[in-house]
Amino acid sequence: MPRRLEAPRLIVASHNPGKVKEISALLAPFAIDAVSAGALNLPEPEETGDTFIANAELKARAAATAANEPALADDSGLVVPALDGAPGIYSARWAGPGKDFAVAMDRVAHEIGDRHDADAHFVCALSLCWPDSHCETFEGKVFGRLTFPPRGERGFGYDPIFVPNDHNVTFGEMDPAEKDRISHRADAFRQLTTACLA
Ligand code: IMP
Repeated sequence: MPRRLEAPRLIVASHNPGKVKEISALLAPFAIDAVSAGALNLPEPEETGDTFIANAELKARAAATAANEPALADDSGLVVPALDGAPGIYSARWAGPGKDFAVAMDRVAHEIGDRHDADAHFVCALSLCWPDSHCETFEGKVFGRLTFPPRGERGFGYDPIFVPNDHNVTFGEMDPAEKDRISHRADAFRQLTTACLA
């Protein structure tokens, strides 16, 4: 049986404002207060895992232990099978120290060459950990294809180059409420809420 969350607030173990915003919106219907790790000045651990799940657990466990409260972490990224899964767990790192996703999207364009509409998917591992190190972890996905040049100012990260299946707009052009309905994060979140919150 998965462990259930009883606490009225949850630390969102991320320093990425785009993710904190999306996770807070997803938590709102459950009357759970989301507090970001950045607001609590919690340290950001190095992501040394070699899977999305390992990195999500490492971040959530570090925040839960440091704050002595349950914490939720997301590890996510864009997977391009034609690039052997890159950028994958290195999605954030492709943006360089300046966290400039124009640079990261340029690199995808360069490496994909003329296969501009290659298949791609986003993956999101969500891990909910307690101070005793127990974690419940779920992985969600959304499938689609790449498109260049990037389109849309909404969203964050690689959103402007990803068109989800059955849509003509990129995640960067899409209404955020629609992205929250179909995204990899929403998929992982539905699994988590069914197991631990509902
Ligand atoms: P990390 O999980 O903090 O290692 O970073 C994951 C990176 O993957 C983010 O910085 C984004 O670049 C990318 N990413 C994850 N989820 C999304 C999304 O929903 N849209 C666009 N990019 C995303």
